[in-house]
Amino acid sequence: MKILVPVKRVIDYNVKVRVKSDNTGVELANVKMSMNPFDEIAVEEALRIKEAGNAEEVIVVSVGPAQAQETLRTALAMGADRAILVKTEDAVEPLAIAKILKAIVAEENPGLVILGKQAIDNDCNQTGQMLAALLEWPQGTFASEVVLADGTVNVTREIDGGLETVKLTLPAIVTADLRLNEPRYASLPNIMKAKRKTLDTKEPSDYGVDTARRVTTLKVEEPSKREAGVMVENVAELVAKLRDEAGVI
Ligand code: AMP
Repeated sequence: MKILVPVKRVIDYNVKVRVKSDNTGVELANVKMSMNPFDEIAVEEALRIKEAGNAEEVIVVSVGPAQAQETLRTALAMGADRAILVKTEDAVEPLAIAKILKAIVAEENPGLVILGKQAIDNDCNQTGQMLAALLEWPQGTFASEVVLADGTVNVTREIDGGLETVKLTLPAIVTADLRLNEPRYASLPNIMKAKRKTLDTKEPSDYGVDTARRVTTLKVEEPSKREAGVMVENVAELVAKLRDEAGVI
């Protein structure tokens, strides 16, 4: 079985994001970019499934600019076997990403596609679900445990107030949540080895997908600043403030 893992190049999670002065988006110039953290978890899970003898090949794919090659090389250094870059300078919406992935699935025939549950730049949380709908495959989203059995996969999902376990018939879509695993670091020898692994470059038009945007971003704003707190002298003052000023008791 092959496993396909889509990985997105996003602003590194440690970077303090700045909104552009004209409010059209966020500043990307000279900003550190990395693999979306949930996608690292997805790559790790695919590698563990392969190492357990339940898959033969892990293929990573990224839709993005030429620099997304670095993200793919990181995944190859972690242990993925092969990469596909679908090169575009456009900011591609989840539906178009899902259509591209559907075409790659048709070419590669994976038994499992493991995505991140969401990209931390747009917080869409849509691509895995849309891909499952387009392929008419079962989906297990927000996975905190993935267990493969004969022709099926049990996915434990993090839901409000607890866990739900669903059984999916393969082929299937899984999206990775934070607690699924702890991704490995790539070792130096593996980083060197990754440079020689196959990375094919394609374009959205190779898959017949139009990446024109359907959604227009009207405005991007900084979150409002938190007001400074006040120190109270004693409990009586706290109670008085909660009652008279905040009106919460
Ligand atoms: P989203 O629906 O945008 O929150 O993204 C959910 C998941 O879809 C991500 O964690 C990735 O696994 C995948 N994905 C989204 N955008 C891309 C992209 N441009 N290239 C590759 N994978 C992507």
